[in-house]
Amino acid sequence: MSTVPEFFASKVFDDKVMRARLPEKVYRSLRKTIDNGETLDLNLANSVAEAMCAWAVENGATHFTHWFQPLTGITAEKHDSFINPAPDGRVIMELTGKELIKGEPDASSFPSGGLRATFEARGYTAWDPSSYAFIKEKTLCIPTAFCSYGGEALDKKTPLLRSMDALNRQALRILKLFGNTEVKRVVTNVGPEQEYFLVDREMYLKRKDLIYTGRTLFGAKPPKGQELEDHYFGAIKPRVQAYMEELNEELWKLGILAKTEHNEVAPAQHELAPIYATTNVATDHNQLTMEIMKKVARKHGLVCLLHEKPFAGVNGSGKHNNWSMSTDTGENLLSPGETPYENARFLLFLVAVVKAVDEYQDLLRLAVATAGNDHRLGANEAPPAVLSMFLGDELAAVLDAVETDSPYAGAERKTLKLGVDSLPRFTRDTTDRNRTSPFAFTGNKFEFRMVGSSDSIACANIMINASVAEALRQLADDLEGAADFDERLHALIKETYIAHKRIIFNGNGYDDAWIKEATEQRGLLNLRTVADALPRLLEQKNVEMLTSHGIFSETELKSRYEIQLENYVRTVRIEALTMADMARKEIIPAMAAFAASLAEGAAKKLAVGTDVGCRYETKLVKKLSCLTDTADAAAEEVEKTVTTLDALGDVTEESRFVRDEVLPKMAALRAVCDEAETLTAASYWPFPTYGDLLFGV
Ligand code: ADP
Ligand code: MG
Repeated sequence: MSTVPEFFASKVFDDKVMRARLPEKVYRSLRKTIDNGETLDLNLANSVAEAMCAWAVENGATHFTHWFQPLTGITAEKHDSFINPAPDGRVIMELTGKELIKGEPDASSFPSGGLRATFEARGYTAWDPSSYAFIKEKTLCIPTAFCSYGGEALDKKTPLLRSMDALNRQALRILKLFGNTEVKRVVTNVGPEQEYFLVDREMYLKRKDLIYTGRTLFGAKPPKGQELEDHYFGAIKPRVQAYMEELNEELWKLGILAKTEHNEVAPAQHELAPIYATTNVATDHNQLTMEIMKKVARKHGLVCLLHEKPFAGVNGSGKHNNWSMSTDTGENLLSPGETPYENARFLLFLVAVVKAVDEYQDLLRLAVATAGNDHRLGANEAPPAVLSMFLGDELAAVLDAVETDSPYAGAERKTLKLGVDSLPRFTRDTTDRNRTSPFAFTGNKFEFRMVGSSDSIACANIMINASVAEALRQLADDLEGAADFDERLHALIKETYIAHKRIIFNGNGYDDAWIKEATEQRGLLNLRTVADALPRLLEQKNVEMLTSHGIFSETELKSRYEIQLENYVRTVRIEALTMADMARKEIIPAMAAFAASLAEGAAKKLAVGTDVGCRYETKLVKKLSCLTDTADAAAEEVEKTVTTLDALGDVTEESRFVRDEVLPKMAALRAVCDEAETLTAASYWPFPTYGDLLFGV
């Protein structure tokens, strides 16, 4: 086995490979395309394609595919082989520039939310040179964006790239105002910390709920859950260790910088964090990471659960989205600097994010709204559905001093004049972390913690980039028109902070008192479910903002609204049907069988004599018979709601019905069955319990 540096990125057509294999001129043009988003002409594309194909074939690839992210949430690929007939009857392996640049998968079976009705079903994929091509199994995967011929985005990458461009444009305006002209491009970076559960595959296969829905729909609390917190950062078990080792290797070969791994709070829960990368690349890498996590698990007799809430009563899984903005000259714009100007610039970018999160709370919330994530955000778990930001004590003190024109203790006790005075050196605060905050400043980046573990990070980052771009636009408009830049800069930071400080909260984010304060006193939004959050996408202020930056067209927004709601409805519908099925075919029969055997036993005992005690059997048979009837009725209710749901026909109406009727009926069915589980002999219970699953690896 070779060493990590030797095999790292061995399956990636990255800069090193390009430099070695492309003619100097082609390499330089391609680099420009990658770094500055310039277009590449077809001649150069031919040359790149040829080199890419030769490299891929040498590395065992036989096929290529345009790899893209349709609105299903997973990635899609359609494989074509490289072979082409040669005149001598043999074949040559070939990839043309045209094949590299553009593909035409059949778009008709991907969700398009009404776009299909208005536009042609046909769509095309377009090479995204900013994300390197890689080899998976025997296939060269070319990262692409997916659009309809009418130009409407049918994927998550296209609007993500657009949002990065929007942020770039606005951030450059701000930098120019600060006299910085050498910066050519501002990019956003993301490091997504991925949480997941591992369960034993044999046990998994015995549970229809896990197979069909990715989460347990039934299950009584085990005697031991996560209360001892003995799992967090605990020693990793050998089987899990072996899994993590192989996972790391597979990820490293693909150039994914898997860095940290540890156990999480819940039993059987773990986390993997990569080193951050440009948002676009980080998004591709996270999609690949999720795919490979699942694949490697199979090899170890495990199943990797990426669902946001696989187990009730146990912490769910999220994906902390660490986000920052940086320049092509290597500066982190969320890092406090050395000079007064740098510090004022830092504070301006900081308040821009505060303004963005406050004004577009709804967009950030709906960007992470899925049926699975509702179980985390809408329930009593961190983070809550209410957006708020944590800045840390030191920064809060600086901003408070600016707000009130009062002396800041660190600044030699005089009032601060931003842009002129030196700010005290901020030390990077990593100790005083607020783990319950949905949007926390952690020294030189923001950590958005609401993203669900199974979701693509694209949607969240589209909305973060868009909201921040809009805030920067407004700030730049204001500053560009200012007679005295320093004067206006100081006032603007102050005004912006005052206008949006309601979003800042440093306390416990899942305290009921906070939710009350947030909604009643501060007027923040509490959008608990997908059905509550999604309609905000089509609010005028949001449509105007997103279209004005060219991130979405109005048609695209409508289609995404439909797709996301449809997804919610369909997911819950499958869960409801799975529950009814498990109750009818497995749980209720098990309860009845156990009760029957008890009754039979009691009858035999009574045959011995009337003085033989049957207290245990009598009590339990009565109780179980009663629960069996309740469960039967509850299953009927669930089935009825699905029938009603199917007759509705309008997706908005359906989503509300799911929230108000289907989910509560499912909860009722679960409650009876979970109670029955605690009363039924283990040998009768039809599938592995929470205890088996959580402690079985
Ligand atoms: P933790 O939050 O667990 O203390 P770190 O702060 O080291 O861990 O990093 C968590 C994630 O944030 C990692 O994926 C890391 O690469 C990423 N990260 C670190 N710095 C930045 C940055 N400037 N921009 C975006 N992500 C970053
Ligand atoms: Mg973190």
